[in-house]
Amino acid sequence: MMTQNGTFGLKARRGLAVASVLLAASCATGPDTAAPRHTPITASQGSPEIPAQLETRFEGFLRDFRVQALSAGIDGALYDRALGQVRLNPRVEQLNAAQPEFAMPVWDYLDSAVSPARIADGKAALAGNAALFDRLEAAYGIPRQIIAAIWANETNYGRFMGSFNLFEALATLAFEGPRAAYARPQLLAALKVAQEGSFDPAMMKSSWAGAFGQTQFIPTSYLAHAVDFDGDGKKDVWTSPDDALASAAQLLANAGWQRGEVWGVEVKLPPGFAYEDADLDIIKPMAQWRARGVTTVAGANLAGEQPGAIILPGGARGPAFLVFNNFRVVLKYNAAISYGLAVCLLGDQLVGGSAIVAPWPRAEQALSRTQRFQLQQNLKMLGYDPGSIDGVIGRQVRAAIRGFQQNRNLAADGFATVSLLAETDRALGR
Ligand code: CA
Repeated sequence: MMTQNGTFGLKARRGLAVASVLLAASCATGPDTAAPRHTPITASQGSPEIPAQLETRFEGFLRDFRVQALSAGIDGALYDRALGQVRLNPRVEQLNAAQPEFAMPVWDYLDSAVSPARIADGKAALAGNAALFDRLEAAYGIPRQIIAAIWANETNYGRFMGSFNLFEALATLAFEGPRAAYARPQLLAALKVAQEGSFDPAMMKSSWAGAFGQTQFIPTSYLAHAVDFDGDGKKDVWTSPDDALASAAQLLANAGWQRGEVWGVEVKLPPGFAYEDADLDIIKPMAQWRARGVTTVAGANLAGEQPGAIILPGGARGPAFLVFNNFRVVLKYNAAISYGLAVCLLGDQLVGGSAIVAPWPRAEQALSRTQRFQLQQNLKMLGYDPGSIDGVIGRQVRAAIRGFQQNRNLAADGFATVSLLAETDRALGR
């Protein structure tokens, strides 16, 4: 749920590039684009000096937090083992403050998340752990390819789990800054994880953002969903693939995965389709989509009766997908649509499904952060309401873009691009 580039939680992609996380914090919703993941980031990279005064305040914070932890049932000796030697980690602070200028277009993200190597490794992982995946499917009802694809997206099948000390990372985030409200309950939960599981705190490695193990759980998610699936009495998501994958499956089951249902399907939209209805929040009965002329990408009738939403992750000129309940369940793992697609599309290919048929509009340039601010300002000057001017393309900005597009007879896909920004410049007479 969180990776080394991770952000937090369902509502928490703001400003950070992608993210994996789970059911965590509560920042604003960001763009559905993703940054490269699993870039090796080590705790020792480029460490600026920490001023002494800051260290003193940090030590004060840890002393105060100790009182809180002990009153929540944490053993004092455990607290001291976990946090007694912890210092502010400047690398965590840097990553916490990072506001990447460029977001990666969804097609570039999918190129790496659903690469030939990822597919080959995933097929090998399924074949090499066939008995485990049989048991997982029987116990939780989650298809093996979805579990394997989450494993791939989170840690490249257990290869990159993060090298930060969980307590140091969370204490640094919890001390102050934009993630303090997220990190404080996570720090307390991490202590509970150590206490309940008798884990050695020094061995609890994580991403800079506090996600850990082969499926990158944050501590509160671990407490809510982790399971011991290999029967050794410990829920060890670091060293036991059985435990890690079962915990991920348990989370999806708890989030409402429907057994036997597909996540979605690539579709073809008819000429004149009302693009303003292509939105994750606009769910319609299958019969209505059929009646509007939506077909499979090959032009065949859509099967089934699941209600679904049509999404256009690359705008009107890219592929279209009809997504169902189980796609939303994957978004409980990480709210980014690009993440959900990466998991589901990789999953399809792990079990012999086909790749996307329609091409991505690769000539479109994604907006830089500066350009996203500019687009928001332009929309506002043109009389639309993009909400706060914060450089984040969220729901309200997409709605404002659709309004602008509809008034100018453009396909109202709400997709922010450099050409759309230029269109708003022209509308302002620039
Ligand atoms: Ca176990």
